[in-house]
Parts: sequence; C-alpha cells; structure tokens
Amino acid sequence: MKIIRLGVALALALTLAACQKAASPGNVDARRLTAAAGNAEWLSYGKDYNEQRFSPLDKVNATTVERLGLAWYAQFDTDRGQEATPLEVDGVIYTTTAWSKVFAFDAVRGKLLWSYDPGVKGTKGFDACCDVVNRGVAVWKGRVYVGTLDGRLVGLDAKTGKVAWSVQTTDPAKPYTITGAPRVIKDKVLIGNGGAEYGVRGYITAYDAATGKQAWRFYMTPNPEGKPDGAASDKVMAEKGYATWSDGEWKKTGGGGTPWDAIAYDPVLDMVYIGGGNGSPWNHMRRSGGKGDNLFLSSIVALRPDTGDYVWHYQTTPGESWDYTATQQIMLADLTIAGQPRKVLMQAPKNGFFYVIDRATGQLISAKPYVSNLTWASGVDMKTGRPIENPAARYQKAMVLQVPGPLGAHNWQPMAFNPKTGLVYIPTNVTPFAYTDDKGFSYKAGAWNVGVDFLANSLPSDAAQLKALTALVKGSLVAWDPVNQKQVWSVEHPYFWNAGVLTTAGGLVFQGSAEGELAAYDSASGKKVWSYKTGNGVIAAPMTYEIRGEQYVAVMVGTGGGGQISAPASMPTRSRLPGRLLVFKLGGTAKAAAFPTPPEPPPIDLAGVTSAGDVQHGFALFHQNCQVCHGPNASGAWLPDLKRSPMLMTADNWKGVVIDGASAPRGMASFKRFFTDQDAEDVRAYVLSEAQKAASAQVAPAAPIG
Ligand code: CA
Repeated sequence: MKIIRLGVALALALTLAACQKAASPGNVDARRLTAAAGNAEWLSYGKDYNEQRFSPLDKVNATTVERLGLAWYAQFDTDRGQEATPLEVDGVIYTTTAWSKVFAFDAVRGKLLWSYDPGVKGTKGFDACCDVVNRGVAVWKGRVYVGTLDGRLVGLDAKTGKVAWSVQTTDPAKPYTITGAPRVIKDKVLIGNGGAEYGVRGYITAYDAATGKQAWRFYMTPNPEGKPDGAASDKVMAEKGYATWSDGEWKKTGGGGTPWDAIAYDPVLDMVYIGGGNGSPWNHMRRSGGKGDNLFLSSIVALRPDTGDYVWHYQTTPGESWDYTATQQIMLADLTIAGQPRKVLMQAPKNGFFYVIDRATGQLISAKPYVSNLTWASGVDMKTGRPIENPAARYQKAMVLQVPGPLGAHNWQPMAFNPKTGLVYIPTNVTPFAYTDDKGFSYKAGAWNVGVDFLANSLPSDAAQLKALTALVKGSLVAWDPVNQKQVWSVEHPYFWNAGVLTTAGGLVFQGSAEGELAAYDSASGKKVWSYKTGNGVIAAPMTYEIRGEQYVAVMVGTGGGGQISAPASMPTRSRLPGRLLVFKLGGTAKAAAFPTPPEPPPIDLAGVTSAGDVQHGFALFHQNCQVCHGPNASGAWLPDLKRSPMLMTADNWKGVVIDGASAPRGMASFKRFFTDQDAEDVRAYVLSEAQKAASAQVAPAAPIG
C-alpha cells in the first residue's frame, strides 16, 4: 500500500512538473542559469552567466563527428548580417535575425512556432555603424526579451510571441542603436546601447522583468552639463569620473563609452560586469583636448545588480583614441594561477591584449598580446596596469598606420573557454588602419563623428602597394592558455572577419568562416576533424543542446557586420544571400537547398556619361561620409555597388537618392542634413570617375563563395 501511494505521489509530481513545463515554456530562472541542470540546454546568450560558451555535452566528439549531418534548417527573410546565438530552452529554439526580428522553432523538428517583427524602420539603418544586426534574446520566467535596433526593449510571451511590454530605452531623436542580447539577473533585464561613432552618451539600464519599469541606469561617461543624472553612476562620476575629462567635443557628443555587448554575472560575489565602448569622437585630442583617461571608456566595470552601484573598474585603453572598445565578451572562470585558485574574468578587447583580472577586486593579474603584430603598444605595465604606448600611436603630429585598426584584433565574435583543455579559443583579426587627425573636425549632429580623417584610408592607386596592404589583413582561430598567457595553437583562415566559437566536452571547437565553412577542430591540437559548406559567410557563434539523448549543433549563417561592410575588398563575397539557421545532429541527412545565384546587376554603359561636379571635392566628401558603408574608393559591393548603380547615369537620379531619400526604406537615408545639392553632385562626379576607371580596367570579380 505504502509503495503504491509513493508511486502515485511520484507520478502525480511528475505529471505536475510536466504540466508546469508545458504551461510555461521558457521558464528560465537563476537556478537553471547557474546549476548543472541546465547543461543540456543553452539558456542565455553565452550559455549561462559565466559566458564561457562551453557545453559538457560529448556525444558529438572527435570519434563521432564524422557522422554529423544536417537535421533541419530554416531560411529567413533578410540578407543582412546574422550575429545571433540561438537559445534552446525546454525544447524550443529562440533566435533573432538582422532588423531585430525574433523566431521560435521546435528544436527537434524545426517547425516555426511563432515569429515577431518589431517593425524597425529602414532609415534606422543609417545609425548602425556596423550593420543592422542583432545578437540574440534573453529568456526568463516565460518571457523572451529582445533589444531592437531603434532602442526598444520588448518582452514577449515565450509561448505565443505576443508583446507583454515594450519600453523605449533611448532618446529616439539621437543615433542610438541596440544590437546586443539582453541578460536577466535577479528579475531585472539589463540592456546597453551603441552609437558612439555618431555621437551619443553610453549607458546600461536595468528594467523589472515582470513590468518593464526602470530599476536603475548607469552612465559610462559623466554628464556633459556637469549635473547629476539621478542615476546609479552619479556618485562615482563625482568621485572619479569628471576629473578624467577635459574640454573638448565630448560636451556635444556625450563622450560615447556605449556598452553594446558584454554582460556577465557572478551570483556568489553578486557583481555584474559590463564592458565600455570607445570614445565619441574617437580622437582623444578632439574629444578631450588630449587630456585625461576619460572614464569609463574602454573599461570593464563591476556593478551591483540590485542598484547599479559601482564596485570597481579596470580601464584597458586609457584616453582611448582608436575605437578600441572593451565591450567585447567578458568571461568568468576559476583558474589556478601560481598555485593559487583565482576567481578571474577574462577579456580579449579590440586593443589586442588578453586580460586576466581578479573579478572580486578588479586587480590585474596578467595581460599579453594575443596577436603577434600589435604596433600601438609594446605591452602592459604590470605596476600601473597601463599599456606601454608607441609614442607615434596618438597621431598628434602625423598619420600612423597601425595594428589593430577600429575593427579590433578581436571584435564581438564570441570566444569560448574549455575547462578540460584550459584553453580560450579566440577568433582574431589583423586589420591595419591609417589614423589621421581630422584637424578641422567639428561635431555635426547625427553624422559620422569620429574626428579621424578617413581620406588616409582611401586605397593606394599603386597595385603593388595595394597588394602589400591587403596582405596585412589576416584572420585566425587562436587557442590561448590564459594561465601562462601564451598561444598553444592557431588556425590561419584565408580571410579575416570569421565567426564566433563554441567548445564542448567532446573535445571539439566549432567555428564558421568568412568563406562559409563550418568546421570542427580538435580542442587540444587544432586539427580540423569535420567541416560543412554552408554556402554563405558565417560570423555568428554556434551553440549546442541535447534533447531525448540526441545532441544538436546549431548556427546562424549569413555574413555582414562591421568587417563585411567597411572592408569589402578583403572579403570573399560580393553578394548578399538570405540568412539561415542550420541545425546538425549525428546521422542527420537533411539537404539544404542551394542558394540561388544572385542576379548580377545589369551592366551599365557609362561611356559618355559626364558630371559637372568637382571630382577632388567629391573624393574628400566620399571618404568622410560614404566610405564606411560603401568601401574605400567605392570598392564596396556588399551594400549596393555604387560603381554599377544606374543612379550614376543622371544627376537627377543621383540627387533623388542622396538628397531626396528615394532609397531610405532600404537604409540609405537622405544626406540633406550634411550635403548641399552641389556636394551630392561632386560625390557623383567622383564615383563616376571610379566606375569609368573600373570599367576600362575590367576588374575581375572576387572568387565566389563555396
Ligand atoms: Ca566603435
């Protein structure tokens, strides 16, 4: 009798648990985000609060991986960059695409359960320095949270995708953007913002997960008007912040420091760690008269999640002047260093040094370059914790060709830490950039405001020089020993701007590449053990989950982002293809349809087409205003290839787009705020001259992706 009763009780409990699960999908809480119970799933952007992107799943391993095949896939309605890491919670995949759209799929069968389109206006694309991307959602207690490109934070019902609440987290009149994934800590949804290239003041905000009511806000720079904000940052700005800023354009821009990506949390220490972005404008001389460290630009800041109160900070790049953000992923781990167990955080920010920091105190433990050819600094002084800068690096007197450039030695593409090998796997880039003081710089509301003269980054006309410059651009996967601060192995990729990383207890490291290969490497040796041709460039990080004994590996496919937009000549693809979610399992036999060959833009005959515009003036205007999206010397072909645009044919058509905003819905906003009609015609004259040059040279197209 007793046994039967127990059996009934157990069955009842199980039924109840199943009912609860079915009734409230996406019921993630702190226990699941920190306990081993969640290990078969992927519950937050970086898997859990540690952001290690390590999964203990091992059914897919060095022996079985050869049987890894496609289980199912989905294709999306956008061909812009796909940067999201999908989440898998209670059998459902939640992911986002470009333009901040959210999708929920049955994780086993791939059936679309619901989707949500926040309706971001195409014109908002103008404010996104680095494509209209989104890196993913947070799931918490039956809700799915997404930050939208136009600055909203939206809470959705995890079961239906219906909007529960929506708040505007930014001033819509300013060029703020959101591309990062929210994180939920102690029933508060945390979200930062971007926009420092255009002129904004960065901050992170916490909202009540149930209601959307603001709990606290922490500004990354002092208030330019010198008054308190009524924010969590007021006290530390008064004590430490203001003293590190001097007179300069930051009083108009807000100084930047936008925390657009990293958020990590240690529940035992009860500290949340956020990463600060670059200065606005970049140029320290123009921003702050060349004086002061400018807190909290390029800094890792520890805060209390209940209040947003400051605990400690470490600034990776004092007096930032190169777009060297420290908003790259912050990863928490427990390491044994010099025989002592240490609670550390690790970061590989854009500036090229790998930092290991005591996460309780903010004390620097070690910092070494994770790429071999940094030129801006020779090391980090362990006494002061400051970089030892190359005296020419600040380009005060002359242009400096420097590594890394604004794309960073490592950017947003997530790295991963495998506790079994003790290695961090970092997707690295080498991209040089010619930093030149923009002596005539003055802030223009809403424009590209970096205080750096982009003319110096026009392409050399000499073919040998161009070849030498292009040869400097490199991308690799680096396996890094964070205890001894040294490289253990590396894989050189044919191109730069490759994908984020996943590592597993199966002894594997997964990474996609610019040319569209998803590969698995042996985590100890770097030997490639499996690969799959996706047909499109990959920049997002893969993730993995297990359901009913089967392990799946999923990845968002679709190139884009800052590297693809701003350095298209160094990338393998010239055409945009629709984004996809690919999901693999052992023995998977699904076949993805081949991408249709994108139609070549019809040839345009520019012979005899003329412009009364001033080519030289157009050259200058182009490189200050258009280069970032259309490539140096109009070399960009990923966003529409201007050299093949029928708009070039007549001054009226050109003006229709550039001044009257005919292509605004697709992201090409009117430049009426910045250009006169004559300016627009001068730019046309310049692009026309480049197009006619290219037509006569019959430049071969870049190799197709495969
Ligand atoms: Ca930036």
